Amino acid sequence: MKPTLGEEEAQAVAEAVRSGWVAQGPRVAEFEKAFAASVGADHGVATSNCTTALHLCLYVLGVGPGDEVIVPSFSFIATANAVRYCGATPVFADVSAETGNLTPETVAAVRTDATKAVLVVHQGGVPADIPALKASLGGLPLVEDAACAAGSTLNGAPTGRGALMAAWSFHPRKLLTTGEGGMITTDDEELAARMRRLREHGMSVSAADRHAAAGKAIVESYGETAFNYRMTDIQAAMGLVQLRKLPGIVARRREIAARYRELLAPMGLRTVRDPEGATSNFQSFWVELPDAAPPVGDVLAALAEAGVSARRGIMAAHTEPAYAGHPHAPLPVTEHLTTRTLILPVHHELTEAEQDTVVAALAAAIGLQTAVH
Ligand SMILES: *Cc1c(COP(=O)(O)O)cnc(C)c1O
Repeated sequence: MKPTLGEEEAQAVAEAVRSGWVAQGPRVAEFEKAFAASVGADHGVATSNCTTALHLCLYVLGVGPGDEVIVPSFSFIATANAVRYCGATPVFADVSAETGNLTPETVAAVRTDATKAVLVVHQGGVPADIPALKASLGGLPLVEDAACAAGSTLNGAPTGRGALMAAWSFHPRKLLTTGEGGMITTDDEELAARMRRLREHGMSVSAADRHAAAGKAIVESYGETAFNYRMTDIQAAMGLVQLRKLPGIVARRREIAARYRELLAPMGLRTVRDPEGATSNFQSFWVELPDAAPPVGDVLAALAEAGVSARRGIMAAHTEPAYAGHPHAPLPVTEHLTTRTLILPVHHELTEAEQDTVVAALAAAIGLQTAVH
């Protein structure tokens, strides 16, 4: 993965610096509006990163000690950690072998009377079936961890629309970056207003609004113990440029993914693909190793030796020391995907020749004949 950055981002950041307003201000407000509009949500609340965005989403739902929140273990560890930040218990549900995402069935299997919410991930950019999940939950709040899903679509509309709130990441590992950064999108005006206060120490009037009210002395108050989860205007300036580039970035990744599939399918290798009625942004392009192939670690080592920088499959939180001893139901699909998939290089400038090298190196590493010369 390499971020797709250019002179336009550098210019925009320089302008923010020259403006003298570098903390959360007009550019953050503009980025919130533009990003929310791009996913068709009424409100955007920018945050310092997606992990803090996830924390705010659960916090405003009142998630606390004694509560359970259903999450996939098959995700970056921040998903489960956000539940722990609230003093609640993450309950790991298994995922679909096709999409790597929660399904109504895997969620139902671990739901209890203590379940307070479900946090669903669009893993690697592959959209989860939000309408099916929502229909199965009977009013239980559903939050989308859309960290990976900017530019993916579900039933012809952008992802991040169906649930109560969606949390996004702008880390450089994702497709739209602000260096560090996050956003919550929602149609709920009250939740958005509360999260705006909570990200800024619980202030009744933001610093930007007090500044804008020049000539009037406005004294803010602090109604509750809150957080500093603000984005800066320097980051938002970059985000505004990146947002305009996002469709092109996604289109290029989809081309690269289609070509990987063309090369790998004849070798009998299963790869990530678009679910029915959805399009992935292919933030992570994974391939499943055949049963006879060596362990992922050996394959990665062989690839590294051939100059190919691949990565292990999506992590499984329950196998990390931070979750040692944490009780969970059997997670066979999660354990299969995390140990038997690996993620191939994809970035905007990846050439066909480089793709051929990756595929040939992979074929050699797992002892297959390659379709590439
Ligand atoms: C990257 C990622 C996060 C964390 O995002 P940050 O912006 O780095 O905090 C959370 N959930 C998922 C699924 C991610 O991929």
